[in-house]
Amino acid sequence: MKRTRKIILVSHCILNSNSKVEGLSQYEGIFKEIVDMLHDKGIGIIQLPCPEMIIYGIKRWGHVKEQFDTLFYRENCRKMLKPIICQVKSYIDAGYEIVGVIGIDGSPSCGVNFTCSGDWEGTPSKDDIDHKIKDLKEVEGFGVFMEELKKYLEEYDIEIPFTGINENDVYSSLKDISEFLNDK
Ligand code: SF4
Repeated sequence: MKRTRKIILVSHCILNSNSKVEGLSQYEGIFKEIVDMLHDKGIGIIQLPCPEMIIYGIKRWGHVKEQFDTLFYRENCRKMLKPIICQVKSYIDAGYEIVGVIGIDGSPSCGVNFTCSGDWEGTPSKDDIDHKIKDLKEVEGFGVFMEELKKYLEEYDIEIPFTGINENDVYSSLKDISEFLNDK
């Protein structure tokens, strides 16, 4: 039987760009270049759930991290992650290697190196929107979903390296992802 016993966890939209907020996708369907890299190395893929799609649906606006930083959102991220954690634990206990997690930098949910932040609330009137767009900033750190994933893994003493694809220009991240996978 052919298998490398190597697996990676990837943000949902890497394999399904349809889940992204309308207007943000830079590839059709699958981020083929990333999948090709994983295929070349024989690394299996576990697709993480898309928390924003599940909770807010496809008609959602873009949000900032502060808007998702609620107990409800975090608890639901954990619920979605439970079947993933169970699979990861089973693989690791059986000697498989989970080589990493690839998230989406800039996302309020799936950011790894940076996420988006702002003082956003209220109604979307023209003045409000202009003010909110000006207030939007990138800040270092994980999005809410990735924070919950990391915490959940740590509860089982599982350490996995995380990296992210830059949502502003996904193709600018190909070299970084290739280097991340170099020793895998
Ligand atoms: S970055 Fe995360 S929350 Fe946003 S579309 Fe991708 S999987 Fe969904």
